[in-house]
Amino acid sequence: MKSVVIHKALDLRVEEQDFDAAPGPGQVDIAVGAGGICGSDLHYYQDGGFGLIRVKQPMVLGHEVAGTIASVGAGVLTLAPGDRVAINPSLPCGTCKYCQAGAQHHCLDMRFYGSAMRTPHVDGAFRQHLIADARQCVRVAEGVSLAEAAFAEPFAVTLHAVNRAGSLLGKRVLITGCGPIGALTVLAARVHGAREIVVTDIVDATLEKAMEVGADRAINVADDPTALDLYAADKGTFDVMFEASGAERALRAGMETLKPRGILVQLGLGGDVSLSQNFIVAREVDFRGSFRFNEEFDLAVDLINRRKVDVLPLLTATYSVDDAVAAFEAAGDRRGAMKIQLSF
Ligand code: ZN
Repeated sequence: MKSVVIHKALDLRVEEQDFDAAPGPGQVDIAVGAGGICGSDLHYYQDGGFGLIRVKQPMVLGHEVAGTIASVGAGVLTLAPGDRVAINPSLPCGTCKYCQAGAQHHCLDMRFYGSAMRTPHVDGAFRQHLIADARQCVRVAEGVSLAEAAFAEPFAVTLHAVNRAGSLLGKRVLITGCGPIGALTVLAARVHGAREIVVTDIVDATLEKAMEVGADRAINVADDPTALDLYAADKGTFDVMFEASGAERALRAGMETLKPRGILVQLGLGGDVSLSQNFIVAREVDFRGSFRFNEEFDLAVDLINRRKVDVLPLLTATYSVDDAVAAFEAAGDRRGAMKIQLSF
């Protein structure tokens, strides 16, 4: 079995490992088919981690995956060999106070695929075979590719952000930062009734993709730094802003265009930022974080299965697992890449 292992910054290896494990009770063995490279995978590759989270030992990367059930363990009645599934990379403990309250993504003992947040690190799913719990698997519909199904995880992140914002019905929405998460937020907002969606970025290629998946207007704020001014007039235009860039400038410029009591959902991760307390107070800005997802994973697969959204325009290229290093290099080039996937 081949797996994609990060050792340290810029040291990513495709390693051959023996695989003879059989699924235990309640588990399944999945032949992984498709895996998307996420921004966090890229941070591990480019920088050896982000913030205080560092790779301290070799770790298999990857958490945006879909595959085909190879075999099932005792007691698994809902899945059978040959079933194609999207795999939820979250493994909450199920017993802590947050799990008991239905907020599993805040689990005190979360094991999330391909994360160095805890030591020993939790291995990810960029590997040819994966033993997972049956409860992590959501069946993929006939005619839907594993490549599409592998978008379920990042799409779930954006559906969670929409849930954090509340109803978007008839709302004017600004999305700052238009990488895969920003572009998927366009799909999530559109399918939940947004009236107008404006996106900003500093790369034309990503803005074109945002238009392709349903944005009403795309603004390159590097070429046209004053284009947002018109939306800032008369105490703002937008009801909801999704900040998906992690960039302080995008946050500050976008916030000025929010109407009083507008909702700002922060999705992008970055460093410390400086904001005007007075502006937030006077405009009554409702600033909310959004982290991973919970029940939205099932919704993501369902919307993809029923063709309510089309994620395929966001797939830039697929590389063989053997070419994982080239795939990570391509994923790091924002000018050419939206979502890069590995094929196993
Ligand atoms: Zn828990």
